[in-house]
This record gives sequence, structure tokens and C-alpha cells, in this order.
Amino acid sequence: MQRWLLLLGVVGLVSTVPTPFDEITPRDGESCGYDSCTDAEPGVLNVHLVSHTHDDVGWLKTLDQYYYGSRNTIQKACVECILNSVVKELWLDPKRKFIYVETAFFWKWWVAQPASVKSQVHTLVRQGRLQFVGGAWSMNDEAASHYQSTVDQFTWGLQKLNDTFGDCGRPRVGWQIDPFGHSREFAANLASMGYDGLFLGRIDYQDKALRLKERTMEMLWRGSDDLGKSSDIFTGVLYNLYQPPAGFCFDVLCDGEPIIDDVSSPMYNLDAKVATFLEVAANMSKAYRTNNILVTMGDDFNYLDASLWFNNIDKLIKYTNLKAIKENLNVKLFYSTPACYLKAVKDANPTLPIKQDDFFPYGSDSHAYWTGYYTSRPTTKWMEREANNYLQTFKILQSLTNLPESNMVILNELKSAVGMMQHHDAITGTEKQHVAHDYERIVSRAVDDAYAIGNQAFNKLLMPEASLVYERCEFNQSQCSVTERSQAFVVTVFNSQVMPKSTLKIDLPVIGDGYSVYDATGTSIPCGTQKLPSELLSMPTRQSNATHSLYFYGKNFPGLGYQNFYVKKGTKEKKTARDSDSKTVTSDDEGSRDIVLENDYIILSINKDSGRMNYTSRTDGTTLSFLAVPGYYSAFEGNNEIAANRSSGAYVFRPNMTSTPVLHTFHDFPVTNVVQSVLQEVHIHYDDSVSVTVGLKDNTLYFYTTLSIDLGREYVLRFQTDLKTDGAFYTDSNGRQMLKRIRNTRPQWNLTLAEPISGNYYPVVQEMYIEDKDLRVVVNVDRARGGASLEDGCFEIMQHRRLKRDDSFGVDEALNETAGGKGLYSIDKVRLQVVSKTKENLINTAETSLRFFSIPQFFVAEAPFSLDKFKTMTNVHSFLKTDLPKGVHLLTLEPWNNKILIRFENYLDKQLSPDYLSVDLTKVFNTIEIRSIKETTLAANIWFEDYKQWEWNTDEEFSESFNKEYGSEGVNIAKEGKKYDDDGFIIKLRAKEIRTFVAEYGVKN
Ligand SMILES: [Zn+2]
Repeated sequence: MQRWLLLLGVVGLVSTVPTPFDEITPRDGESCGYDSCTDAEPGVLNVHLVSHTHDDVGWLKTLDQYYYGSRNTIQKACVECILNSVVKELWLDPKRKFIYVETAFFWKWWVAQPASVKSQVHTLVRQGRLQFVGGAWSMNDEAASHYQSTVDQFTWGLQKLNDTFGDCGRPRVGWQIDPFGHSREFAANLASMGYDGLFLGRIDYQDKALRLKERTMEMLWRGSDDLGKSSDIFTGVLYNLYQPPAGFCFDVLCDGEPIIDDVSSPMYNLDAKVATFLEVAANMSKAYRTNNILVTMGDDFNYLDASLWFNNIDKLIKYTNLKAIKENLNVKLFYSTPACYLKAVKDANPTLPIKQDDFFPYGSDSHAYWTGYYTSRPTTKWMEREANNYLQTFKILQSLTNLPESNMVILNELKSAVGMMQHHDAITGTEKQHVAHDYERIVSRAVDDAYAIGNQAFNKLLMPEASLVYERCEFNQSQCSVTERSQAFVVTVFNSQVMPKSTLKIDLPVIGDGYSVYDATGTSIPCGTQKLPSELLSMPTRQSNATHSLYFYGKNFPGLGYQNFYVKKGTKEKKTARDSDSKTVTSDDEGSRDIVLENDYIILSINKDSGRMNYTSRTDGTTLSFLAVPGYYSAFEGNNEIAANRSSGAYVFRPNMTSTPVLHTFHDFPVTNVVQSVLQEVHIHYDDSVSVTVGLKDNTLYFYTTLSIDLGREYVLRFQTDLKTDGAFYTDSNGRQMLKRIRNTRPQWNLTLAEPISGNYYPVVQEMYIEDKDLRVVVNVDRARGGASLEDGCFEIMQHRRLKRDDSFGVDEALNETAGGKGLYSIDKVRLQVVSKTKENLINTAETSLRFFSIPQFFVAEAPFSLDKFKTMTNVHSFLKTDLPKGVHLLTLEPWNNKILIRFENYLDKQLSPDYLSVDLTKVFNTIEIRSIKETTLAANIWFEDYKQWEWNTDEEFSESFNKEYGSEGVNIAKEGKKYDDDGFIIKLRAKEIRTFVAEYGVKN
């Protein structure tokens, strides 16, 4: 305890075993952070040369292949060699500086270093010669990633840096130089993490051209209208992506000429090099508002032999500065870092333009809209989401069931795996196929290993001791050894959310039918079996004998807890619904022309002639008439030599048509399978053996498509309504705030659009909606997707892509996922909510969207005991002491070195939550007692009280609500929201606020 208190004052938040003091505290004459920067000079052009390497955490090679320099025939890259070489070269000259970004790589290298090298690196960090930027586990994608995972992977990376280097290791700026578009929510997250600035590489080519001309490359970006000023962050767009000026790449990978300063050499080129560089610098400075420019001196996997870069930059600085002095040129070159550049800009006190929207979609030329990767590799995107759900579950169980500290090794392995998946070539699906397999290997192993936590926790909670062995199942391909082989098994459903859940549909792969299901009290409940689709049974990756899906509805799941079910095979005591209960209906059937599905909330009638669906809410009479139609785009195939010949690829979506997709026609009512005894579900078969299943689940509809994935096609599910939407639709930003989109329009510039389909696609991580003045139609996705509204009243979600060609942006492989020679099939669900726009309905809709992201996890174990024994066990358990108000979400609960890290958020916006929501932290959990709390910034590496946001001058004022003002005439100026003081342990959460606490606690008996 003494040590904890002692350390706090000096190095900020130290969370695990701290590095000895004398290695992290700057000594006399040493300084780090902003204090270590070379001062910019007034009245001269200050050229900040930033030495850097861009090291993808997997792309053309796997993470390990990149790290060790293996398979150099694919790409010459060795991160271990880079870090070895850079440290050696930095050590030679105190003027040299270098930045490092990806903690996944840095940490792998660091733990392998001898004490002598570690000591050198400590010195370099203490003296500001080696600075970390970004500092998360990977440089995350901003389109397909969810904010929960972004916050987690920053927490994980920054924790390592903080433990090892203290405050000198704290990254001051975000460095998102390669992601393919930038989200508003990420900007808000970075601001909340206490970063002072953010640098971007890729923005739309039309946006960039205008910004260069109008000197708006640097701006103040407001990350959230709900959070207001506290979400503002300085944002700078780099001049040249992240590459050096032409002719100034000195790496072993480059063809650029080195600087030759020997006048007697026939290759002498010093004067010409200096002159060219001065010209480049002068041109660059025209695009920026202060007398500082940042020149990126590095590229992908550069600095393999760091001496080449550093020796040449040394010369460039020396001779250019010499010439400047001699000729009075008012220019100064020096080694710098993004943080030092930012400080110089701040000191120059510019007036900045503002930004309130986001940087999606990213177009790199007139035919290259990078909107395909929103959907590329849907199975990878699912795997990432499932792994995140497991991670949250295991973090909670480890925190609340007092399990051994030794479990942290497997929990940390899973944190690393999910952090890696956020990388901008991982969750995006823009890596080579063998790298995708490697990601799958790493994630799968991490989840398997971490399963031990679930086993320990559930067995501890089950009284009397049941000694159940939970085994992992691959529910995504209906494969599960336990449910297939066991005569009886227990299903433990864990709800990691604090909101209780009234109903949950549980699907389990089984062999044949004849099952009985019992709820937590041992009472028999209705269940049914359904044959698995043939597409699924023939999946070559599947190793399963399951032929059927056993389904049933569980009720009354507690918040933050579990409920058990007992399943027995071969009993006849309760009638179960089987395939024989389902009806096959054809268009020739007599009687009504409609098929009707209904439950307590909804009546859905489907017309047999047209496929038109009529929705009626039983609660308030809301109706909607719509069509749900599967379709596809044929991918454009070109040689990529000029913009017009750009192929659709892993990054770029480019259909070979300019209006709507090819829609599957609904002739008449084709063969339809209706299952109504337990499920309310219809399978509608279209032509080309495509079928869409529609079903009811509480007050929502669900849809999934079964189809064969053909080469050269990009599949969509399109909804057509009569809503008058005026070109507007809304998509989420990383699963959090919603952003208004207007078709064929960008908020900050006049758009010229040669690709009217792909240029109107936006990322959808959790939710997308269209609305008119009364009604909102919301679609939720089970994994990240691309979505668009190409006609009023319509919207579509892209489901799958399988392509013949590459788009020539580096991956150099066609996105063609196959299994057994056929297109890889994936089952993906979308959920539809139709609501009249009352406040209560919109709050419920927000909750439903969040639930669909963070679904309860199923754990199954063989039951070597009878139903009677099952009845004696603790089959329902909640860790909650009291219910929490609607709108409150437990975002994080994880062990934090004998303490716990807690994040609560208010997920409602200020329209729905104008005041605040409060949570008494001493009254949340029933197995632990919170004894003290201290707030940190969002990534838990700075005490909240120690962080002070920078102030900037702007040339305009922010509007009150981007969504309200975008596309309308009037502009309301934003007012600062009220601040609320906490009341001891009772914390207050403003609209969309996330608050992070480190808590000391005791375990209750
Ligand atoms: Zn990259």
C-alpha cells in the first residue's frame, strides 16, 4: 500500500509491477515529453523531421513473420531488426529522435531484451529521444471496430507503457496514419483518453485537395455533440500520407539516392538535394497555418538498417541549416516528433477551422471508394466480435468470483488477441488469406485458453459443487461436441450486461430430434428442432454430426449473471415441436393470400403473391409495409492501371453498374417453410436458390439469408419502404453515436461522385436507420458491415463479397474466401426494429441495439447427473445488488492489480437523457465491496484530476447538433452542458459519457 501511494505522486498510474524508480524518473539534465522538444524559432519555417516506421500487426505476413523477419520473399520486413537497429542508432547521437506506435510489437521485443538494452531504452525514453505515439496494442481500424474494443486495446497498450516507462512513456498524440477513413467516435475517445492531438494520413482526395488549398489541413474536431467541448481534439492531416518527400526515402527498401557530400566524388549531389528539399518544404508550408511543418521520414517497415536513414537525415539537417544561416533563408530543420510538432503549433497559437462530421467514406481517386472493407471477410468480423464478448465475460467473472491471480496470463492472452484484431488490416479483412488464418489461430487459441476462467467461475458459483466441464462450441457453424454426444447437458447462459433480459432464443446443434429442455427450476419448457440448412451441413470447415438445431426460449435472465438450462435426450414427457410441426406452403394453397406470424408484440403478414410484408405493432398500432429483398452487385474487373480501370477488391467496393443491385425476383409465393409452434419464422425461397428467413423475436424482426456465394458478386439485403426520407439516413460511429448521412453529399465540400453506389456506402458496426417524422426503421447488424440508402425509403446492408480481382492497394490477392472449392458461407443475422418516435420507444431501441452487440454467451457441459440433482443447484445467479437505471451500461469490469477497473457509461444521447443518470458504486456488485474509487481518463493511464485539456482558437463556433443542422438552414451554436458533481460513491453520468474508475475492494463472503 505504501508503495502504491508513493508511486502515484511521481509517475501517475502504476498498475502492475512497477519498474524501479531510477529508470523512469528523469535525472538532472534529462527531460521527456514536451520539455524535451527542440524549440521552434519564431519568424523562420521550422521543419520537424519525424523518423518513424509503420509496422502493421499482420497484413501481407503474419504478426510473427513480420516480427522475426521470416518469409522475406513476401515482403522484406523484420520488426525485431528495426527496433534493434533504431535503439543502436539513437544511442549514438542525442539529437536523433524516433517514434514508435504499436505496443503489440514493442512489447514482444521489450520482454526479450537483456538488462543492458532495457537500460539504454529507459534512458532514451527519459530523454525524449524515443517517444511513443498512439501506443495502443495496434493502430486500430476506425470503420469496423467497436468503441468497447478500441478503449480496451488502448488500455492494454498504455498499461504496458505506463508500467514500464511511467509518465515519460505516455503518448501525447494519436497517430492514425494508415486507417482507411476516420471516425468521429474515435476522435471523441482519444480526447477522453487525454490525448492532445491526432494525426491522420488518409482522407478523401477531394477533401484533401480543398484543405491543401484553403489551409485547413489542421482543425479542431469535435468528437461528440453530447459531450461537447471535452470531446474536442486538435487534428492534423499529414501532407504526404506518412511517406517522405519524393527522393528523400533513404531506407534500404528505397531506391532514393543517398546524400553524397564528398565534393571530390563524381556522385556529389548535396547542393541539389538541399535545394530540392527546401523547395518541398516551402510548398508544404503553403498548406499549413503556422511556421511549422511536419515531414514524415519513414514508411512501411522502414529502419531495418536505421543507420541509412539517420546518417542521411543528419546530413540533410546539417547542410540545410548551414545554407540557411549563410543565405539568411529563415528555415530550420531538426529531429522532432509529432508531440513536439504539436507543441510548436500550439505555441504559435493559430486560429483553426472546425470539423463536426467524420472522414467516411474514404475515396483515394474518382473510382476508388474504400467501402468494401466495411464488409470484407464477414467470418473474421464475426470471430472478432465473439472473441470480444468472451473477453468481457471472462474479465467480469475473474473480477467478481475471486479466482486465482494466475489466470491473468490467459486473460491477458485474450486481451492481446482482441487488441490485435482491431488492427487496420485485421478486422477490416484486408490481409492475405494466410494471415487471416493466422489471426484465426491466435484468437481461437486465446479463447480456448481463457475458457478455464469460465469453468472455474461457474463451478464455484454452482452449489452444490457440480464439477461441470464446459467445452467450447463453434455455434457459428452449428458444431458442438457436448450437445452432439451427451445424453444430458447443462447450458449456462451468461449475460454480461447489467440490463436484465426478458427473452433469449437459444439455438444448439444436435443430432436428430427428441429433446426435452428444463429451465432453472427444473420445469419443462417448450422447445423444437429444425433441420440445419444444407449450405451449412456441407461446409467443409465443419466437423460435426449435428443435423438439427434445438431451439427454445429462455426467460427472465438477470443482469450481470447466468441462468442454467438442463437438456435431456430421448424423453417423451413433453411434446416438442419438430419439423413435422412446420408447414410447407405453396402459392397454390387455398385460403388466405397471406401468411401471418405473430407474438405478443408484433403481427407480421407476408403476402404470397408479392412477398410484401405488413408489420403491425400490437403495443401502439404502428404499421409499416415493406419488402426485404436479397440482391447482389457484380464486381467491376479492371487492370487497375488508371482510375477508371479500378477493380473491386478487399478495400475498394466498385460494382460494374451505377444504380441498384440485381434484385432476386419474387415470382409468387415459393415453397415456404413455416415453423410456428415455438418459433415464429418463415423461410422464403427466391430464385437462384436464395432464401431469406424472417422471424419474430420480442418486438423485433430478424432476417438471415441462405445463399451460395458466387465469384465476382457482392451480396446485399435490401429493405424497401414507402418512408419519405429526403436522401437522409443514419449510421453509427463505432457502435456509439449516430451520424446523419445525406445521399450524394458531404458536409464540408461539394462532392463530385463518379461512383454513386460505393461512394454512398458507410460503415455500420451496430445500427443504421431511416426515418420520417413519425416512424423510425432501425436495422442492427451482428457484425460490422457496409450500409447505404441509395433511394428514398430504401436501405441495404452488404452481407458478403467474393471477388475475382485485387484492387491493387497492396494486398495483391483477390478476396476469394473458399471452403471446399465453394465460396465461404456465413450465417449472419440482421435485426429490424420499427418504432414510432416516442422518447420511451427510442430509449428502448438504443437498449436493444446495445444488446444485439453484446449478446449473452452460451456455455455447455455434459451433465453426468439427473434432473433431480440439477434442481438442487444454483441455477440462477446475478452479481448485481440492485437494478441500474435504464441508460446505464457497464462497459468494463476487469482486474487491475489487486484492484478493479470499472467503466460505466450513459449510452443515451442528450435528447433521451437531458439530465444525468446516477450509479452508487457501493451498491452495484454483491460479491465485492467497493472501498475507494479514483477516476482516470478513458484509457486508465492518467488520473482524471491530472489531465488538463488544451484550448484552441477557432474561426467558427460549433453547432449544437451536427445531425440537426446538417442539411438544414439554421445553425444553433453549441452551449456547454451542465457539469454535475459526484456525491461520494454516487457517480453521475451525462448523456454519452463514459467514466473510468480504479477501485479498491474487498471480497464478501
Ligand atoms: Zn498499415
